[in-house]
Amino acid sequence: MNVLRRSLCAAGLHSGPWSHPGARCESTRVCTGCGRNDEVVQHTWGAFAYLAPDRCEQMRRCTRCGTTQTRTQHVWGPWLYANTEFDAPQIHRCRRCHETEKTRYTLR
Ligand SMILES: [Zn+2]
Ligand SMILES: [Zn+2]
Ligand SMILES: [Zn+2]
Repeated sequence: MNVLRRSLCAAGLHSGPWSHPGARCESTRVCTGCGRNDEVVQHTWGAFAYLAPDRCEQMRRCTRCGTTQTRTQHVWGPWLYANTEFDAPQIHRCRRCHETEKTRYTLR
């Protein structure tokens, strides 16, 4: 093993070709310098889509291995004052699931 390769390996810069094992999204590699095994996962995500018209969960699916991932994406309306008091909190409401969120106090 040459000295350059060894110092690159010591710095975490391993070398060698990545494999692409079939329908899975994990690629593996065995470093040609030190024999270390590396694995990376790289999914091919489709677009996020809402699961139901009145819910805010979105899901996307990897087109290669079928793994799914969810997130919550609210569609907030404008901020409104909760009441007319001087330090009234502001609230806004999600247009889809009607969940509300409010500030602790206003900064006016
Ligand atoms: Zn290495
Ligand atoms: Zn995948
Ligand atoms: Zn929502």
